[in-house]
Amino acid sequence: MRKPFICGNWKMNTRSECGVALAKAVAAGIPAGSQVEVGVCPPACYLGAVGSSIAGSAVGLGAQNMLAEADGAFTGEVNSAMLNDLGCRYVILGHSERRQFFGETSEGVAKKTHAALAAGLVPIVCVGETLEEREGNQTEAVVAQQIEGSLAGISAEQLPTVVIAYEPVWAIGTGKVASPEQAEAVHAHIRKLLSDKFGSEAAEQVRIQYGGSVKPGNAAELLGQPNIDGALVGGASLKAEDFLGIIAAA
Ligand code: 13P
Repeated sequence: MRKPFICGNWKMNTRSECGVALAKAVAAGIPAGSQVEVGVCPPACYLGAVGSSIAGSAVGLGAQNMLAEADGAFTGEVNSAMLNDLGCRYVILGHSERRQFFGETSEGVAKKTHAALAAGLVPIVCVGETLEEREGNQTEAVVAQQIEGSLAGISAEQLPTVVIAYEPVWAIGTGKVASPEQAEAVHAHIRKLLSDKFGSEAAEQVRIQYGGSVKPGNAAELLGQPNIDGALVGGASLKAEDFLGIIAAA
């Protein structure tokens, strides 16, 4: 009943021409009648070009970040109104690279989540533990804190629009994928947290994506788990063939 959602996070990669070609190849490769929701999140400077190239296709456009504030003196930033203007459907929020390199906190992510929802965007809220936290048996506690903080003030009515991405930091870009059992255990934990906080009806509707070294070869097993509803794909979303392979596995 939850529609699988495969989203490509291109991170700080591609140039205009190859990004457009990649998005077009993805759009062209999705089988007619596919029941999988697909998105691509190019760098902000290419949202316009990539968005135009996939307008009217089955592929939705997403941004990798935004600021919660309205227009004003925030040099170098973009906000939800600008993402709307460019035709974005999704925005990734609180990715671990933003938490790690740009000091983002769950409190800040919550502000962005509210702003995204108010603008009609689908927020993809990222959570996940570091290797040190996993080895210290902190995974459940860390993820619970991140979920609690990043969704502070969200209502049960708003929750089904939110997508959660569980991305263990130790699996991102490392080739070390979480086993399907490891991932499913955390996804089930997240759904239980959501159910306790928002009620089971809302929690059952939330798509929880897995992210971290997802490839065509490991996607089917991960996506076959009951609480894994899609994937947030980094490296493998940069090649149309690999990304389409993951979509085919969903
Ligand atoms: P990789 O698929 O390259 O491990 O990246 C995952 C990720 O961070 C997606 O947001």
